[in-house]
Amino acid sequence: MLQDTFEFSSSFAGPRLAVTILMHGDEACGLAVLDTVRAENFALSSGSLVVLVLNRRAHEAPEGPVRHLGTDMNRIWSHAGLGERTEEARRVASTLPCLKDADAILDIHSMPSQDTPFLFVSETHPRSADLAEKLGAAVPRVVTAPPPQQRGMALFETELLSKETPIVVECGQHQSAQAPDVARATFLRFLSVHGMIETGGDAETASSETVRFYEMCREIKLDQGPLTLALPMRGFDRLDRGETYGWDGPRPLIAEEDCHVLLTRPAVNPGDEALTLVRLTRTRHV
Ligand SMILES: [Zn+2]
Repeated sequence: MLQDTFEFSSSFAGPRLAVTILMHGDEACGLAVLDTVRAENFALSSGSLVVLVLNRRAHEAPEGPVRHLGTDMNRIWSHAGLGERTEEARRVASTLPCLKDADAILDIHSMPSQDTPFLFVSETHPRSADLAEKLGAAVPRVVTAPPPQQRGMALFETELLSKETPIVVECGQHQSAQAPDVARATFLRFLSVHGMIETGGDAETASSETVRFYEMCREIKLDQGPLTLALPMRGFDRLDRGETYGWDGPRPLIAEEDCHVLLTRPAVNPGDEALTLVRLTRTRHV
């Protein structure tokens, strides 16, 4: 058994699920899942589950939890990334056999600034959007990302897994008091929609919910910098076409269409990624 690999199984046949936590060392909300599965009363009614702690070294860094120790572990889930011969690539390679036979994978993250939770799926794995809709009662926003072009490949879009259904939950801001609750509720919903725990209690936190689906529309990079925002943004902030939402140095940033601000980053220099904008594509009642 690998270090930081936690296996659970029922005596009844059922799905095989995987949960990954601490891919980024400063995103500690996923540890709530570990507390849940290690509690005395936790039991699966069918199937099996593996929980993988991916980057404990970054979490336990001497200076305190950090995103990574030199290589971003969520940019190397590709044949090219595995060829880099870093410590992180070695650990991704050793994790793959645990993920390869999973029916679905829940990858738990949090965000530097924004505090509105959402599910993140990739066009490269179309069935992930169907799973996201089922998880919508726990987290009612779903963002679909196109295949990566200017960055390395993440777990949720990896070419190294094909039949599996990976999905990311961004549980809120790193230090948010609610983020561990969001992680736990999403995890329990993930188990219950696969029929692996008795429903009721924490697993059914909402009776009906409107799930909103978004697609990426623009990544804003700075031409001059620094970035100044017109308003504090908490995630999914609505922008109307023509609205000035910030400045790139002296240059106003003006919305080209009605859209929402998914993420803002502390961008300062030319070329820094500053904001990600998304547009609403559909809504669905679950
Ligand atoms: Zn992350």
